[in-house]
Amino acid sequence: MNISSLRNQFPALDQHIGDYPLVYLDTAATSQKPRQVLDAMAHFLTTDNANVHRAAHTLSGRATASYEAVRDKLKAFVHAGRREEIIFTHGTTEAINLVANGLKHRLNSGDVILVDSAAHHANLVPWQQLAAQTGARVEAIPLTAELRLDTAAFEAQLEAGAALVALGHVSNVLGTVNDVNTLCAMARAKGALTLVDGAQAVAHQRVDVTDIGCDFYVFSGHKMYGPDGVGVLYGRYEVLDTLTPLLTGGEMIKTVSFTGTEFGELPNRLEAGTPPIVSVIGLGAAIDFINSLDRQAVLAHEHDLMARLRAGLEAVLQIRIHSPRDAAGAAPNSGAIAFNLGDEHHQDVGILLDQQGIAVRCGHHCAMPLMSLMGVKGCCRASIGLYTSPDDIDRFLAAVKEAAELLC
Ligand code: PLP
Repeated sequence: MNISSLRNQFPALDQHIGDYPLVYLDTAATSQKPRQVLDAMAHFLTTDNANVHRAAHTLSGRATASYEAVRDKLKAFVHAGRREEIIFTHGTTEAINLVANGLKHRLNSGDVILVDSAAHHANLVPWQQLAAQTGARVEAIPLTAELRLDTAAFEAQLEAGAALVALGHVSNVLGTVNDVNTLCAMARAKGALTLVDGAQAVAHQRVDVTDIGCDFYVFSGHKMYGPDGVGVLYGRYEVLDTLTPLLTGGEMIKTVSFTGTEFGELPNRLEAGTPPIVSVIGLGAAIDFINSLDRQAVLAHEHDLMARLRAGLEAVLQIRIHSPRDAAGAAPNSGAIAFNLGDEHHQDVGILLDQQGIAVRCGHHCAMPLMSLMGVKGCCRASIGLYTSPDDIDRFLAAVKEAAELLC
């Protein structure tokens, strides 16, 4: 992989923060965008801009064709069986809310919803709301001492009965990877529905929803080199087709009268109103960008970066690394590593790093239950993308050492 020519495609990386060249290690929060994505969106807005689906004129025809072509790209990208199984949302958060709201009629009082203890709040709070509305109960799937999902405990929970299982694919804090194929198979064998939050997975690994065997898989465009404002819900057709729409109004109907409304078919039935058209176009360009790369080479590059990060942080005396080491039998950590410097406040560390142009995220990372298992209020997270260079990692490590000397 030629990292410098790859980086040249990301204009935002080419800037200074004060006197320092930017080191962007906050890709897990949002990725930078390649020129291809920016150009595709600008081109659409300058030449094809029109609303989709409902006009006879040429621009609308072009807009509709471009918009629907992205659905086909996504179907191939995640290996869905049918294009109708791809629903555009405004992000992962909306996609999970859509599912949680849509399943309201299927859940009964006393039903159990099992949720990954490392889940992002977006994959926990909507289930709590669903439970409050239906009388169902949310139960945390425990983690092991090293903060991986406890498969034995999960098995026992499934044995006791569960209606639904919500898992993260990759933890946005720790970078740990759940074996979602096995976990979904276990859930399916016990008759539970499954949702996998792939927000931190799609940019880093190939995702095959058919192989995973989940009922729902969700992710956001902005974490995979696309724009914000667009997310994706994949749903297995038979289950997706039973969801009650979260939003109703235009686009999603077959007939409307004052005596009643008949909803349309998938996918439109779950896409009420004007969709995020230009963001969808940008997401399509992001998929083309990812598909144009040698994904094995990207994986190897990111794996090397993660190893460099880990080894460098372990050499800092005062460091407390929360992400478990890669272990036999578990997929190597992906994308992110979480740490604290002694007992120093995470925000202080973040500010010191920023003074050298280094962007990391510090806080609870929308994972308060995980923070409490880690025994901290917050932590720092360094996260990489395919454009991250070994030099970025080395500058980050040197700055962490300096911060440790100053603070601890
Ligand atoms: N799930 C995970 C694992 C995330 O990392 C995030 C964002 O950080 C979300 C869900 C929410 O994504 P969005 O804010 O794009 O809806």
